[in-house]
Amino acid sequence: VPAAEFAELSRGIEQIYADLQDERSGEVAQYIPTLRNADPDRFGIAICTADGQVYQVGDAELGFSVQSTSKPFSYAMALEQSGAEDVHRWVGQEQSGGTFNDPRLSLDAAGKPQNPMINAGAMATLALVEPESDVSERFAKVEQTWAKMMGSQPGFDHRTFLAERDTGHGNRGLANLMAAKDMLKVDPRDRDAPQKTAEFYFAVCSLEVDARRLAAAGATLANGGVAPYTGERVFSQETAGRVLSVMGHSGMYNDSGKFSGLVGLPAKSGVSGNVMMVVPEKRLAVVTFSPRLDEAGNSVRGVEVCRRLVNDFGLHPYKGL
Ligand code: GLU
Repeated sequence: VPAAEFAELSRGIEQIYADLQDERSGEVAQYIPTLRNADPDRFGIAICTADGQVYQVGDAELGFSVQSTSKPFSYAMALEQSGAEDVHRWVGQEQSGGTFNDPRLSLDAAGKPQNPMINAGAMATLALVEPESDVSERFAKVEQTWAKMMGSQPGFDHRTFLAERDTGHGNRGLANLMAAKDMLKVDPRDRDAPQKTAEFYFAVCSLEVDARRLAAAGATLANGGVAPYTGERVFSQETAGRVLSVMGHSGMYNDSGKFSGLVGLPAKSGVSGNVMMVVPEKRLAVVTFSPRLDEAGNSVRGVEVCRRLVNDFGLHPYKGL
């Protein structure tokens, strides 16, 4: 992005940030203490371009657990390790038609998760990350991948991890269901293997990032798999394209279709109140952090930032043709 255009985009973001200060609708996630006790008024936005230009405003360096926004990257890691053909033996690429944790709609008739953006699918992709290694080494692999994208090591939110583990019965159930149908790549002789996969997933959801650093991860996707600060290739171009496609139809929980109509760009949200959107045309990512969520579980301000940015700069790919 040319410097003048970047400056204009930055001014646009600053204006949107100011305009949304008084937006107080929505509720913070209630299911675990760390999220329930989050300061609901926090608000930060960061953009990062493929060539590493950054603009940030507000609480853009305040840490939060990445939660579901880890999913596109876990899918990317699985694609890099196993290739698309093998990955899609274990996880589909269709909208699920259900919530991110729905016990009935997450899996197809064969027991295969519908896509990598729902919990079942995220566990299926993590099962493909270095399956032969010890789970601590597999987690290290995930951390290293995040560090490459962001240019710095992610943190870890221990309280969130412990609470996710204590409350994660539904996720453990989904892992068991997949294993029962031979649809989770785990050691069949280890009866605890599905549970270990669920714990691996809880740990990855508990990685701590901030808007600024998450924007660099998003910019890696916008840049065809090359990290914006270091120029290091993290994923192939094909992987980055596949990840953005799935984000485009299933990244925003049960409002993914609505979001597509409104905004038309690939995005992923997490229950901590983050939204990461990629603007392929501009080769950049924008990340919002604001903990109040709408009914679907998306940050109210986060969705509004995406909608405003696309409207103000004419970025909806199918409008105004
Ligand atoms: N970690 C939560 C769970 O698995 C959800 C994460 C999210 O949707 O952001 O239930």
